[in-house]
Amino acid sequence: MPESLIDKITSLAKRRGFIFPSSEIYGGINACWDYGPLGVRLKGNVKAAWMRTMTQLRDDVEPLDAAILMHPRVWEASGHVENFTDPMVDCRDCRHRFRADEIRDARCPNCRSTNIGEARQFNLMFKTFMGPVEEDAAVVYLRPETAQGIYVNFENVRQSSRRRIPFGIAQIGKAFRNEISPGNFIFRSREFEQMEMQYFIKPGTDEDTFEYWRHQRMQWYLDLGIKKDKLRFREHGPDELAHYARKAMDIEYDFPFGWKELEGIHNRGDWDLSRHQQFSGKDLTYFDDAANERFLPWVIETSAGADRAALTLLLDAYDEEPDKDGVRVILRFSKDIAPIKVAFLPLSKKENLTELALRLEHELRPHFVTDYDETASIGKRYRRQDEIGTPLCVTVDFQSLEDNAVTIRERDSMEQQRVSIDRLREALQDALDRIG
Ligand code: ATP
Repeated sequence: MPESLIDKITSLAKRRGFIFPSSEIYGGINACWDYGPLGVRLKGNVKAAWMRTMTQLRDDVEPLDAAILMHPRVWEASGHVENFTDPMVDCRDCRHRFRADEIRDARCPNCRSTNIGEARQFNLMFKTFMGPVEEDAAVVYLRPETAQGIYVNFENVRQSSRRRIPFGIAQIGKAFRNEISPGNFIFRSREFEQMEMQYFIKPGTDEDTFEYWRHQRMQWYLDLGIKKDKLRFREHGPDELAHYARKAMDIEYDFPFGWKELEGIHNRGDWDLSRHQQFSGKDLTYFDDAANERFLPWVIETSAGADRAALTLLLDAYDEEPDKDGVRVILRFSKDIAPIKVAFLPLSKKENLTELALRLEHELRPHFVTDYDETASIGKRYRRQDEIGTPLCVTVDFQSLEDNAVTIRERDSMEQQRVSIDRLREALQDALDRIG
């Protein structure tokens, strides 16, 4: 059977240092993943791009970084203690456990038995204890979403930043869910990172705001270079809507395992602030002095996963081309997403070439994320850089010592241009901008 795309990506990610199974030398731990040298840069670029779009390039969204551990009452107010459950079923024959919605034709997906137990509700929150005594009163949860850190800080952020409604709060951070059926590499894991933004609005302005944000968020994925025909919106039907949601739309990607959610955009009405107001006893209403009215803000939420976005970028950028040595594997990342922007390659290991290549690499390091590689043939080294998505290689050859010029080789077209060392920085910037 030909290797599936997800298997290719999983093995490339491990081999080249994007993503490793967690605790691998102990046999791994299910649904936890470690980001290696290239993965840290890839996911870091995703998060930086999100923060830049959501805060730096706007007037109306402030960043926040709330603690992972929160007061346990938060999760009562949010409804997670009561409702953050998935129905779970056991196969009485093979003893595997599944989410109820994975059962098809009343058969176990593992052994095909029909001897399946009743569905039970299983809470997905991880519990731990705060302080030295493991008692009920000391139970705290690892947050299953970042959003609650935003709601409980609504007043702090509003007052300290002197914001008027409408405004938003954006946060990136870890979330934990004890998923019953994790899988598909990093698509569904038990520890992951979310990028969430809550936009606080005047009641009644929700429909327009929702429309605005869903298009903004779709555009963000397109700007990262993800193929348009692989993205779509899917609106939740009335039977799917969470009890507090007035409207919900997913941005979906055409993954190798089907169209699946990449991000959710939700109209949450006043559910969140009203619940926190009720449970905390604090007034969370807002006084609009222009209209001389007081109201409880409503919320439009955009909720994305950094790991899911990274997986999508890996899958979407993956390409293979036949070449004289077999296949050329290329990650066609956009310039902002590529973990390494420029690799410096001396044509041979001769000292005068390596010296010059290293000097150039050191000079350009403050301006671009760079790599240096002097091992193996030049063709092999180009292939290595293609496989990790490096847009540009700078080759230093014997001629460089005579004419003070080097070759820039472009990943996608494999075109080469000779440029003077004196204007290398500008030439690299121009070439990156052309790649987009
Ligand atoms: P799903 O239906 O896939 O379980 P969800 O509807 O529970 O997702 P939300 O609670 O809306 O997801 O979370 C927002 C985003 O967080 C998702 O769109 C996804 O990108 C990310 N996310 C949620 N759960 C996971 C997970 N277990 N692993 C990785 N990312 C996740």
